[in-house]
Amino acid sequence: MSGLSSKTILITGASSGIGEATVRELAATNANLFIGARRTDRLQALAEELGEQVAWGPLDVTDPVSFNAFADAAEATFGRIDVLVNNAGIMPLSPLAALKREEWTRMIDVNIHGVLNGIAAVLPRFVAQRAGHVINVASIGAHLVVPTGAVYCATKYAVWAITEGLRQEHDDIRATVISPGVVATELGNDITDPQVAEALKGWRQKSLTPDAIARAIRYALEQPEGVDVNEVIVRPTAANM
Ligand code: NDP
Repeated sequence: MSGLSSKTILITGASSGIGEATVRELAATNANLFIGARRTDRLQALAEELGEQVAWGPLDVTDPVSFNAFADAAEATFGRIDVLVNNAGIMPLSPLAALKREEWTRMIDVNIHGVLNGIAAVLPRFVAQRAGHVINVASIGAHLVVPTGAVYCATKYAVWAITEGLRQEHDDIRATVISPGVVATELGNDITDPQVAEALKGWRQKSLTPDAIARAIRYALEQPEGVDVNEVIVRPTAANM
């Protein structure tokens, strides 16, 4: 049996893609999973399918009140919180000259404030119990910038920096960045520029399935307490960027 079987793991963005795959992967460890997103019908269906070790709560990561309530509900359900997987993210790519300010703001809200709201919801507990693990899903876009990706990559560089800061500030809390290359998910379905949406289809020709990222998350989680996997970059073998 996995060493995770007595742990409670919170997973955001669990209604599709990498988050959903992570729920399925970790359900096999017998850990308690508390999963969140806005599309609660999907969370409910996933929890019903996987059994009572999976519970769910509505979550808008951009809202600190929502995130705190989500963490409180997880603790009320399973008695404690050991891990937070900050996975929720959006990627409405566009060239800067298109001035899609509302999309820039939304990306910053979900991808940066969402991660910070998550850290704020669990960190006091982790400090008090002198243990905990925050896994932040960044991106290969935390390491390189591509045209139309300026703001998205900026948010992921920020996620990288926040995780590194968390790691440096705490001796007994683990911090991990998972940086996926292209993965076939619903990410980018909200791209409003037709040319960029077409380009995304091209990038997706060489893509991973979400379970590849879920296994990387499980790898980081299953290390002994004294081992902190700081970052894992996972790309399709055929990727050239
Ligand atoms: P999906 O679009 O399939 O999943 C995104 C998840 O985020 C959904 O479950 C969505 O749930 C959730 N979400 C979005 N906004 C909010 C919000 N305000 N509050 C709560 N949940 C929210 O994409 P992926 O699985 O691909 O994305 C997961 C992570 O992986 C993201 O951080 C993304 O940036 C990162 N990533 C993905 C790559 C890829 O190629 N797919 C590559 C590199 C990184 P709901 O809408 O129900 O709230």
